[in-house]
Amino acid sequence: MKPLDEMNPEEIRLEIAERKGIQPHLEPRYSEGYTDDGTDGWDGWFCPHCNTPESLYSTTPCCPNWPEDIAAAWELVDEINDSGFLVIVKSWQVGHSKYVADADCGVHLLNASDGNCWETATTAPIAICKAWLSWNRSEDK
Ligand SMILES: [Zn+2]
Repeated sequence: MKPLDEMNPEEIRLEIAERKGIQPHLEPRYSEGYTDDGTDGWDGWFCPHCNTPESLYSTTPCCPNWPEDIAAAWELVDEINDSGFLVIVKSWQVGHSKYVADADCGVHLLNASDGNCWETATTAPIAICKAWLSWNRSEDK
């Protein structure tokens, strides 16, 4: 497994999707539309579940964009929470932490029996994703 600190947001998203067993896109459906003033139109084949164009099926999973969508990322927090961890999401001004100088959000997982984990990133959703992966990977053992 690739170390979390070396993964880009898309790699993080794909691993979360894989670990959640998220299914491939649905059979594409044709749709078309126009801008409000009717001057410009678009059409194509899209996934009815997530609206991803069929041409991007091979590179985009049918799932939320956890690393960029805080609402989706927060569902990961709930999931970790429900497993018995206390999840602490912290942010601070860059350079103010003596632990990490280049990060501005951290997520701390605390659990009396399993120890804890501390992940950081430049945005809250990415820090949450890394904490979720760290938690989920540790469940493999
Ligand atoms: Zn889809």
